Amino acid sequence: METKREKKGLADRVAMPCQPAKVRAHNFEEVALGYSGKEAAQEAARCLQCKKPRCVSGCPVEVPIRDFIAQLDAGNIEEAYRIIKSTNSLPAVCGRVCPQEHQCEGKCILNAKGQPIAIGRLERFVADSHLAATENAPDSGHPACEIAADAKKVACIGSGPASLTCAGVCAQAGLKVDVFEALHEAGGVLIYGIPSFRLPKTVVAAEIGGLKEAGVDFRLNHVGGRTVDVNELLKEYAAVFIGVGAGLPIFLGVPGENLVGVFSANEYLTRVNLGRSYDFPVQDTPSFPGRKVTVFGAGNVAMDAARTAMRMGAESVHIVYRRTRAEMPARAEEIEHAEEEGVQFALLSAPLCFNGDEQMRLKSVTLQKMRLCEPDASGRCKPEPIPGQVVEQPTDLAIVALGTRSNPILLDATPGLKLNAKGYIEADPETGETSIANVFAGGDIVTGAATVILAMGAGRRAGKEIVRRLKGLND
Ligand SMILES: Cc1cc2nc3c(=O)[nH]c(=O)nc-3n(C[C@H](O)[C@H](O)[C@H](O)COP(=O)(O)OP(=O)(O)OC[C@H]3O[C@@H](n4cnc5c(N)ncnc54)[C@H](O)[C@@H]3O)c2cc1C
Ligand code: SF4
Repeated sequence: METKREKKGLADRVAMPCQPAKVRAHNFEEVALGYSGKEAAQEAARCLQCKKPRCVSGCPVEVPIRDFIAQLDAGNIEEAYRIIKSTNSLPAVCGRVCPQEHQCEGKCILNAKGQPIAIGRLERFVADSHLAATENAPDSGHPACEIAADAKKVACIGSGPASLTCAGVCAQAGLKVDVFEALHEAGGVLIYGIPSFRLPKTVVAAEIGGLKEAGVDFRLNHVGGRTVDVNELLKEYAAVFIGVGAGLPIFLGVPGENLVGVFSANEYLTRVNLGRSYDFPVQDTPSFPGRKVTVFGAGNVAMDAARTAMRMGAESVHIVYRRTRAEMPARAEEIEHAEEEGVQFALLSAPLCFNGDEQMRLKSVTLQKMRLCEPDASGRCKPEPIPGQVVEQPTDLAIVALGTRSNPILLDATPGLKLNAKGYIEADPETGETSIANVFAGGDIVTGAATVILAMGAGRRAGKEIVRRLKGLND
């Protein structure tokens, strides 16, 4: 006879309700609609409440997953929120964009049956319920310390998830935090990169609103290395955290890349998301009106660019990738969603050159057909050209999504800041401290392009160290 525990584990994972593909391919509303209360309760009830929960070890910020699910199962949503917030400052964001299949859900014991607990969806449900109950005014989950008039001050440069998390930890401990952001809106990639159909801007704004409530000030249009200088900041601030991300696009380096109609994914997505060009001319920023769109790359950024182009009215969108579907680095869910929405895949293909008309406008891209050779010593199959197999793909908008690297503006302007061979900041893995005393760094500017939760983990570690030092000095 099955035990109660076995019965629980056998129930099917509750599916996420989504907008139908044909409808959502033409709007910027969120694709995944979120669990209802009944669905969340059903999914929470599947959790086995393991004595040694493996899921927690898969979470870079160690959310007490079992405990929040237990509270949710008991109907205590606010307590579940408080538990999540004890280690995760942006749960409504993480519940939406974290690659849970490689993290907490990848470690869940029910993964063995192919049906891990939908931890991300439950986290999102709890965070959204809290935001709805408090009319989009998130709190920290526990009372913040009063910020004294003579409180030590911390400066964060950049306002992506690394800085936001560091700022939250410091403000929570009663330190005065100012965030300096180069753009006119705070949030980093959460605002300018990840499209609203995956992460609504209202969710990010609500999380940032919580930080403002906790006393964090945002100084927008401030460029570290130009309008503010790290060494100057150190005269006013007891600690500086650098979380400027890795936003410099990498290009293909093939002929014709300077033609009108070839964009980096960064620029394309920034225009649509930050500039809200989907609402042009109501909003001031236009976007390039591509009808036949080709996207290069196969990561999450490429999927976001392709799906955005679809929504901006493209007749066709192709993703060009030189390997096969099995090697595509994007999340499986994102690839499936893109395909359902009509994005087509030109696999085993690599660009040779872009072709333009007499006015230098992009007309097509020449693609070399590829094949995978036998696995090398590392087990990886290298793509190689198939001689003579070349095709021309009509294209009036090309979006290059090959990745990014560090932007040198702040790095070059900060003498004494040690970088590694790849041009990222060297930082202590435990504390985040750089080669300059009391200057910390974390997120993509240290690791290279990674994930939201890893950036948050780094911001949290640095924030805790700053609090330890500055509160220690105060005592
Ligand atoms: C399109 C796209 C989709 C993604 N999708 C996912 C996903 O689904 N899940 C996931 O986990 N990760 C995803 N990522 C990766 C993730 O967003 C990043 O790893 C994460 O945002 C890094 O956080 P960060 O705080 O280090 O930097 P960022 O988020 O890059 O923020 C850095 C901030 O610093 C500002 N800045 C830069 N230079 C300066 C300066 N000199 N002075 C002042 N401010 C400056 C920038 O304007 C920006 O606001 C995606 C990335 C992109 C581009
Ligand atoms: S490992 Fe899975 S089943 Fe066990 S406590 Fe974590 S989420 Fe629940």
